[in-house]
Amino acid sequence: MAPRLLSKSKLIAWRQCPRRLWLEVHKAELREDSAGSEARMEAGNELGRLARRLYDPESKGETIDFQQIGFGPALDRSKAVLVEAKPVFEAGYAANGALAFADVMLPVAKSGKPSWRMVEVKSSTSVKDYHRDDVSIQAYIARKAGVPLEGIAVAHIDRDFVYRGGNDYTGLLAEEDLTADTQALAPEVEQWIGEAHKVAALSSEPTTIRTGGHCSEPFACGFYDHCIASEPQPEMPVDWLPRLQKKDVKDFIETKSITDLREVPDEYLNEIQLRVKRATVTGKTFFDAPGATRELKNHGLPACFLDFETVQFTIPVWKDTRPYQQLPFQFSLHKLGVDGKLSHTEFLDLSGVDPCEAFATALIDKCDGRGPVFVYNAQFESGRINELGERFPKLAGALSAIAGRIVDVLPVARRYYYHPGQHGSWSIKAVLPSMVPELDYGALSGIKDGTMASAGFLEAIRPETTPERREEIRSQLLEYCWLDTYALVRVWAHLAGHGEIRM
Ligand code: SF4
Repeated sequence: MAPRLLSKSKLIAWRQCPRRLWLEVHKAELREDSAGSEARMEAGNELGRLARRLYDPESKGETIDFQQIGFGPALDRSKAVLVEAKPVFEAGYAANGALAFADVMLPVAKSGKPSWRMVEVKSSTSVKDYHRDDVSIQAYIARKAGVPLEGIAVAHIDRDFVYRGGNDYTGLLAEEDLTADTQALAPEVEQWIGEAHKVAALSSEPTTIRTGGHCSEPFACGFYDHCIASEPQPEMPVDWLPRLQKKDVKDFIETKSITDLREVPDEYLNEIQLRVKRATVTGKTFFDAPGATRELKNHGLPACFLDFETVQFTIPVWKDTRPYQQLPFQFSLHKLGVDGKLSHTEFLDLSGVDPCEAFATALIDKCDGRGPVFVYNAQFESGRINELGERFPKLAGALSAIAGRIVDVLPVARRYYYHPGQHGSWSIKAVLPSMVPELDYGALSGIKDGTMASAGFLEAIRPETTPERREEIRSQLLEYCWLDTYALVRVWAHLAGHGEIRM
């Protein structure tokens, strides 16, 4: 039998967790990839296609598609083309029991001999520590396979890039040279490959490795459900304590291997953490109703209740937008009049054309008048409104007036309310079940959270999406966003001590 080759992605899996490598090799079917990771993979593929255009504008290069032609032929073809002075994409090479494919190989003219500059393209907006491992593995295998490398760089997204239209993405990618890092890490890489092979050769799963912080850093591990299922779970997990950022408490929990929040002494905890601990242990809800009412009573009726849905693109598609900019495409707005009557209005654009200006105009129109604009987590809505004002200066004054009326309900809930079922979270989905048990996000059909809303939007604007499917997504988005603001109305009413809401 031919000796096993470990791909770069398997070696990276080992760097995160040896058990993950073992599972990838022996029980890959147990991995559960989230909708988010599939979307990231698709965005990565799209970025790869664009990188080819940017690094090879005259289309003189060659792309080696190992998925189409298979590993063996891809390695042979790479060997053959890596002697020609033209860009090569996805060139593969194997050495010392490891295998890698380089995103971009660019020929460097040097005394008639072919030599290469390797570029790995990443969709992040900066070089991360794990990218250094990634390119060091890549460079190590290439050098051992006899590929002459002049330089190694990571090309990442330049967050400040602004797309000016015309399909011109010059400047989207910014490079950082990591040649010296890859040389310094080479001896370690050799050890990593050896250690990883030992783990891959184990006849049984290394179950002594337990779940922990490493399961989500640097990547969310798809085997989490599998691993956690075999571990005894604390009755009251310590991670229900919110914002455990202070060094002394973090160190205490880590050094004592604490898993249950009852084991954390009160003196380590701040007021909110202590409240969570007490409510969890006693099973009793904390609610300072007079305090909450006092805080909210200054904001009278009429009042608006507002929520946005947004989408982000790694590669901006709309003119004058940046990579990863949060672009609003939908809002839901409930209005509570002085007569105590509730009405609803909304905006949603699934045309695929930049919806932001129409969104801003509709928002100004629907939020007219006076009174507070209640939101849940004001940073998000305020940030988007300010960005819209920057993009559309003629609307800036009216948008800033709306931003000035925003009142955040989240800090009021955090200060005055906690139910043991919240498990350390004050998200509206965590708070709602105890305050308004008859309202349930679980009853929604299809779209149930912001990530799904964004994925639904992207699917709906694709040209190949059928009109029937687009309408199905439209009704799911409207239903979901309506619930977000109706839930906000009911949470506000509970905290403010407001009586019955009339439709
Ligand atoms: S879930 Fe955690 S412990 Fe299990 S394989 Fe993944 S990283 Fe390792």
